[in-house]
Amino acid sequence: MTDRYDVIVIGGGPGGYPAAIRAAQNKLSVACIDDWQNHDGSRAFGGTCLNAGCIPSKALLESSELFHRAAHEFKAHGIAVGSPSIDVTAMQKRKAGIVKGMTGGIASLFKSGGVVGLQGRGRLLAAGGQGDCQVEFTGADGAKQTLSAGSVILASGSVPVELKSVPQDGKRIVDSWGALEFDAVPARLGVIGAGVIGLELGSVWQRLGAKVTVLEAAEDFLALADRQLAAEALKQLRKQGLDIKLGAKVSAAAIDNGEVSVRFADGQGEQSAKFDRLVVAVGRRPFTKDLLAEGTGVQLDQRAFIVVDDHCRTGAPNVYAVGDCVRGPMLAHKAKDEGVMAAELIAGRYGHVNYEVIPSVIYTAPEIAWVGRSEAEARAAGVNVKVGQFPFVASGRARAMEASGGFAKIVADADSDRVLGVHIVGPMAGELIGEACLALEYHASCEDLQRTMHAHPTLSEAVHEAALNADKRAIDTLNR
Ligand code: FAD
Ligand code: NAD
Repeated sequence: MTDRYDVIVIGGGPGGYPAAIRAAQNKLSVACIDDWQNHDGSRAFGGTCLNAGCIPSKALLESSELFHRAAHEFKAHGIAVGSPSIDVTAMQKRKAGIVKGMTGGIASLFKSGGVVGLQGRGRLLAAGGQGDCQVEFTGADGAKQTLSAGSVILASGSVPVELKSVPQDGKRIVDSWGALEFDAVPARLGVIGAGVIGLELGSVWQRLGAKVTVLEAAEDFLALADRQLAAEALKQLRKQGLDIKLGAKVSAAAIDNGEVSVRFADGQGEQSAKFDRLVVAVGRRPFTKDLLAEGTGVQLDQRAFIVVDDHCRTGAPNVYAVGDCVRGPMLAHKAKDEGVMAAELIAGRYGHVNYEVIPSVIYTAPEIAWVGRSEAEARAAGVNVKVGQFPFVASGRARAMEASGGFAKIVADADSDRVLGVHIVGPMAGELIGEACLALEYHASCEDLQRTMHAHPTLSEAVHEAALNADKRAIDTLNR
């Protein structure tokens, strides 16, 4: 192994591995150090996203949705399958295969792209400036080596927040990773936190037959989302059977006779509940422990996030930080764009992330997706707001899919016609939001969307009609 690189990336998740690949594409010599270890002891690149986040959760969401559709929707199509059963072992095996394929894909991309993948721990010993940055690499065998690099990109990611009052045993009381690995459908599942993870994983096990109760401390559901979007999503998820309790503050949980007892307080006073399994999904925190030696000049804020500017520069010479370990939403696509930006800047090229246009997607059924400003945010900013909306019940394609709940909503500036935000709850909302991202990136007007032809019958017509509705010119819905 050589001991000097142009770039060393610490962390091989969606922040780190794209940074390493782009650096190599920019003809820089690059090593990516990653210490991810799976529960079975195997090592893999890909970080949280590929090993214990985005990819395994979407694999299970797909399986559970198919199961749900077979049980509840096939009949409407005239398809009789009897009462479907779920083989959780087979479902988990499929998920593991997808994860293995994807993480193995990164190893292949590294190999063919000229990135040196190093499995073990990295620690920044010194920033650059006078000379190279210094990084300590501790291999899987414990052997230490000091490497030097022109620049370093820190991409150490995040870990789940734990609650002191809810001690996890990894079996009955688990975090999101544990909830992705259940070997059977729990009869009664408790989830603490009605955030993205709570809703996605709650949905998985609810569709497979669990009775799911979600305990959310806040009074508002999905506080960051457009209020109308959040209200519709809450209505639909509750209708499916998710028992979402808002304003529910958990004070304690313990395992008692093989079941989990939880105490919480809500509007109705002190309550208790019993579950077979409990998932703690109350947010994630940056993982910056043991990442920095004394005196590197890299600053951490009060919550242990690495302090960076808009270009992910830490302020310590030639040291960048990207992804979940820095400010901003903890999302894989945000991490990836930041990693690529850092690799471009190091190579002396142009690099930029538009923090105004970061899509959010919650992969429940229906999906919940948004980008840009909510109606309330736009009004609070003093914008003369106009709103356009289109319900999926008026979409032929959505009805053909038996998925006609929800709507697409556009928030625009009535004076300039500029689109400020798009909010969708409905089928494939996560795919539809792509068009909205492009519209916002290009500063599109409602008229631009109105004049763009959308294929019929597609779900994307909902975005087109919502844009028309903003000017009371929708064809397929009432212009209220
Ligand atoms: P990570 O993916 O956490 O990767 C960091 C890597 O660095 C890890 O491999 C870690 O082991 C390694 N590391 C840390 N410190 C060191 C060190 N000192 N030396 C060597 N290696 C180190 N986001 C989405 O956008 N869409 C989704 O659908 C989605 N679903 C999710 C589902 C779940 C259940 C969870 C938990 C998260 C989900 N996320 C999703 C969030 C997404 O996973 C994160 O935003 C993303 O992984 C952040 O990427 P990252 O590279 O910053 O960090
Ligand atoms: P989150 O921040 O989305 O939600 C946490 C929820 O827990 C909040 O609603 C909060 O009010 C609640 N909460 C906090 N403390 C509580 C307590 N003591 N009792 C009850 N409720 C409490 O966090 P998450 O769902 O854990 O997800 C973590 C991160 O992972 C998020 O930043 C998210 O962006 C990312 N993620 C993204 C996706 C996606 O993009 N589809 C999927 C999963 C995770």
